[in-house]
Amino acid sequence: MPTIPNEQLKNIIKDVAIYLRKSRGVEEDLQKHRTALEELCKVKGWRYTEYSEIGTSDSIDLRPKMLQLLKDVENEMYDAVVIIDIDRLSRGDGEEQARIKNILRRSGTLIVTPNKIYDLEDDSDDMYSDFEGFIARAEYKQIKKRLKRGKKQGARRGDWTNGTPPFPYVYQEWYDEKTRELFKNEKGLVINKDNYDTYRFLLEKVIVGRLTPNELAWELNRKAILSPRGGRWHGATIQRILVDETHLGKIISNKSAGDGHAIKRSKDSKDLVYFHKDEWIVVENCHEAVKTQEEHDKVILFFGRETKTPRRKGTNIYPLSGLMKCSRCGHTLVINYRADRTSKEYVKPCWYQDAIGTKCGNSGSDSSIVHEQIMIQLDMYREALEKALNDDGGENDSVLRDIKMILTEIAKLEKKIIRIDELVEDEYYTLPEAKKRKADLKTLLDEAETKLNLYQLKLNDNAKMTNTERISIIDKFKEAITQENLTPKEINKLYKSIISHIVWDRKKDDYLVEVNFL
Ligand SMILES: [Zn+2]
Repeated sequence: MPTIPNEQLKNIIKDVAIYLRKSRGVEEDLQKHRTALEELCKVKGWRYTEYSEIGTSDSIDLRPKMLQLLKDVENEMYDAVVIIDIDRLSRGDGEEQARIKNILRRSGTLIVTPNKIYDLEDDSDDMYSDFEGFIARAEYKQIKKRLKRGKKQGARRGDWTNGTPPFPYVYQEWYDEKTRELFKNEKGLVINKDNYDTYRFLLEKVIVGRLTPNELAWELNRKAILSPRGGRWHGATIQRILVDETHLGKIISNKSAGDGHAIKRSKDSKDLVYFHKDEWIVVENCHEAVKTQEEHDKVILFFGRETKTPRRKGTNIYPLSGLMKCSRCGHTLVINYRADRTSKEYVKPCWYQDAIGTKCGNSGSDSSIVHEQIMIQLDMYREALEKALNDDGGENDSVLRDIKMILTEIAKLEKKIIRIDELVEDEYYTLPEAKKRKADLKTLLDEAETKLNLYQLKLNDNAKMTNTERISIIDKFKEAITQENLTPKEINKLYKSIISHIVWDRKKDDYLVEVNFL
């Protein structure tokens, strides 16, 4: 089989859609296929957007992602659809298959599999016989298509359409020797070298140094490095930059719509709505990445713990600040000092009220019981670590158990989704009923997958730190905490060096204090 040289392929194909479908059968197929197709796109330098779904049904109406893909293909968003094999689109010779193929043919969209390229516009079965001709025709068609496409939704094809490029990126610029004009390409992002050094400095300070966004801002301001707007840095800006997924080389759009300002910019503005993750448009491989996925995960883990509670200006830091989580609603509890003459530290009752004003109801307490429990549970934890050292391994058991449970749940949900297709075939469900039911299950599935993701991050993180290292950190902590004259802020920082969060519950005299160590 002839292969198309990479250089020529680059001209023919630039933007592709990856379509993945998981049906009954081998569990790990979807992931394996995804990896293979993503790899293909990366090697060829294509920008890609993924459409993936679960289901056995050949009915397009029961495959929302296929519907979306066909709409986008009709709008000439892509040069090719990448699939693991051509049967993925639709099995059999039915009407549905013809509908899919017609749309691909009319829009001049190629089908790419890891070992073959299909051009549905080409009548000859043996398209490779006239290979040169194929290249030339395909190239011409795609260029024509791309010109038209430029006027349609830019985001769909991975252009930068969100305004000022995020630090450390800037717009691509070039200088025209003849006219002596400077041009700016407002669609392409490139890395600014100076900004890049600052960005990497920040990233490493978070990952290795575990500095908070505010501490980072102080460092940069001390070094007299200017913010992207030419002024002083603020913690919030830095955090926003560091968690941004644009820096992984992708462009995400369609996260929200409408106007979020308290005073609407125009009276016709719609309220701000956030879209479900399923509806985001993610185009990968758009520009050079400045962090790895692994680094990104670490930053998310760190900030997820460190800064979930927006710290108001001038708010004091107490020993337990930012560490206490309500066991009933998951919100971070507020710590304060009593206004009376004891001025003791205490955990405030949970402040959370739901949308209709029902209070969470978890009570507060003096904090002494928490401090006591931290030391007791730390000793137990250290003992368990020592024991695990001798038993070798075993430290990931609980996370692995969680992962196993969530995987079982995911498998169950996926089976249910697939079962719906069968129930439609048996005319037990009508199409609208099936769609509604599928959407509900998808929400549950999404939640389960988010959880799985977190567990996996935790597992990776565990693997990075050995029990020996943990024990040595605990011993250092124990020594440091006995120092005299520690400020509340210093105690807080020490706690945060070993504790992820503390789950709190109190109902009259029943207390629950569950210390989760890092
Ligand atoms: Zn609560």
